[in-house]
Amino acid sequence: MRTCPFCHENHDVMIDCEPMKKSLARMRAKMDAYKKEKLDEEHEWPIQEHVVKLWKAHGFPCAVCRGMVALCGYVQVPKGHPAYGKWYDDVDVDVHGGLTFAQRTKDGHWLGFDCGHFGDWWGTVENGHGFEHPGKIWTVEDVVQETENLARQFAEMAVAGANDTRKESQDGQ
Ligand SMILES: [Zn+2]
Repeated sequence: MRTCPFCHENHDVMIDCEPMKKSLARMRAKMDAYKKEKLDEEHEWPIQEHVVKLWKAHGFPCAVCRGMVALCGYVQVPKGHPAYGKWYDDVDVDVHGGLTFAQRTKDGHWLGFDCGHFGDWWGTVENGHGFEHPGKIWTVEDVVQETENLARQFAEMAVAGANDTRKESQDGQ
């Protein structure tokens, strides 16, 4: 057992730290409320994290970045895409932990997820956080794959959206 640097109780793993969980949830709720209010603003480059990889998959710009506690994956959808301009809670995709990020640039709208959920490993090796707990270890390669999985769903969503529009215009005739 070690003394937790956050709550000063004795427990080895972050996943056991209730005060930490509550504090993180509060922090995230505050940041989210702020970002949601500013969803219409365009940012130069919205992702305030160290970029590990930038590439394109399924026609969309993709990014993997290293955040404070974990790696994160992002995909940018263009204007006209069904997910463009939406808050992340309002976009229905199946990605690790659910979407946790939405921000816009002049070229498109970035949506992303992170690998810092409970059940994920927040390690000491890659980010120096000083904690270890027995969760899934996400490598950059894993996050690249999950990001491409997200890009594929956005590609399918674009096709479905186009079909809906076609159907609506046919129905309207
Ligand atoms: Zn603690």
